Amino acid sequence: MQTTKYIFVTGGVTSSLGKGIVSASLGKLLKARGYRVTIQKLDPYINIDPGTMNPYEHGECYVTDDGAETDLDLGHYERFLSVNTSQANNITTGRIYQTVIEKERRGDYLGKTVQVIPHITDEIQHRIQALGETGAYDMVITEIGGTVGDIESLPYIEAVRQLRYNLGFGNSMVIHLTLIPYLKAAGELKTKPTQNSVKTLLEHGVQPDVVVGRTEHPLSDDIRKKIALFCNVPKEAVIQSIDAESIYDVPLLMQEEGLDAVVLNRLGLPNNLPPDLSSWKSFLTRLKTAQKIVHIALVGKYVELKDAYKSIHEALIHAGAACDFKVHVHWLHSEMLDTLSADDFHAQFEGIQGILVAPGFGDRGIEGKIRTIQYARERQIPFFGICLGMQCAVIEFARNVCGFDDAHSSEFSTTTTHPVIHYLHGQSADVRKGGTMRLGSYPCMLSPNSSAANAYNTLQIHERHRHRLEFNDAFLNVLEENGMKATGRHPELGLVEIVEVQNHPWFVGTQFHPEYKSRVEEPHPLFVAFLKHAETYNKK
Ligand code: GLN
Repeated sequence: MQTTKYIFVTGGVTSSLGKGIVSASLGKLLKARGYRVTIQKLDPYINIDPGTMNPYEHGECYVTDDGAETDLDLGHYERFLSVNTSQANNITTGRIYQTVIEKERRGDYLGKTVQVIPHITDEIQHRIQALGETGAYDMVITEIGGTVGDIESLPYIEAVRQLRYNLGFGNSMVIHLTLIPYLKAAGELKTKPTQNSVKTLLEHGVQPDVVVGRTEHPLSDDIRKKIALFCNVPKEAVIQSIDAESIYDVPLLMQEEGLDAVVLNRLGLPNNLPPDLSSWKSFLTRLKTAQKIVHIALVGKYVELKDAYKSIHEALIHAGAACDFKVHVHWLHSEMLDTLSADDFHAQFEGIQGILVAPGFGDRGIEGKIRTIQYARERQIPFFGICLGMQCAVIEFARNVCGFDDAHSSEFSTTTTHPVIHYLHGQSADVRKGGTMRLGSYPCMLSPNSSAANAYNTLQIHERHRHRLEFNDAFLNVLEENGMKATGRHPELGLVEIVEVQNHPWFVGTQFHPEYKSRVEEPHPLFVAFLKHAETYNKK
């Protein structure tokens, strides 16, 4: 018997309407009613995954426990739902074609011409159902990337049409998210683009069950009636998605609009118990009423594009709300910091109470990061270095405290006599790039009484990784003698996962990415500890 329900979310008119947030919000509401929910994203590009893409192209690459390099929307899913996703939750056209072509080479289709329909669409359907078939979910929400009408989205829409046909009316539904533009000169909201995009969906044989209209102004009753009439949906299935102050308001806004109730009714599921959103609401209250402001500098080389550091930014927000702090993030460009005079450099950090140096790849902006770390260390400013940020902290310490003037990472120098950061076993500058880093969740043992152990309040943790280089153990003794301690190590491999500088209020560098595991309702302990120390900076 078919038990899992499938909810498809498509997008119309333009991209960037917040499909990921609407999907995550719906998932949150359904989960808060006790359903077991997961969310999947289908991306219609040819890359196997976004791991090889520049953040300018695609924003942050989000990493799951099982080491999948995925779309940043998976971060929203995990943060909203407090669930872990996996490789199965993000599928790209590249991966679909790779599988089909491998099958063809193996001889699975012997005698047949391999075509988009049925072979590619069958593979898409298989990937959508794979999550439901685990038996772990009552509902699978599948967000189709791109905009309806795009050439590359066509096989996905066709797969959805076939799946709905095969699953039956009561077991699947389609939510179409579109833009309702406001024409200032006419003083009106316009529904025509929505009508046209629903028509495009209909041309492909898909009738949406719900239309979510993204809008800057409230949808009047007349507008709702018009959309209902021309898009063939009941009026209560026209849902307004109005610009919100915070993405974390969206689940509550969707609940007010009755999105979860419409979905449950449409799927024939009981709608009697209201969702339990008490801890979400208390997070929102703290987020909005916090009075104390904590000023954090976030130093990276992609700061123009905030999406490049999405998870870090959200982790700061979650931790801030947990401490009743408003976090003011000052985005500082590492390349710019390198070129400034001492006075101008100092001016950039006026009023800053904590410094976070971001992850990254390549040598652009490295010296600016190292200079910033020296400043944080010498001035006792709480410091948090993540991945490349931790590696730069090791380089800075080796150069400026241990006196190894040419200390560097093998990623940036092949001639240094002090490669304090070097390639992990089996890694080099020449390895094939896609999916070959040290990826996903690994255990780590913490040293008792370290800043990390005090933050986590436990000695064994699991965190997610994404890197090729590591701390070079050959230099551990000398660094430790000088006051930089390895306070977190892989229990079997011995890899250094955390470094801390002694005689400093809070100086922590992590080889892993704690930001991936911060959730709205479970803020990350390291971010909480960092902000608490930042808040007291200069106040003693
Ligand atoms: N480039 C560094 C490495 O590969 C750091 C990676 C990162 O910051 N994610 O080890």
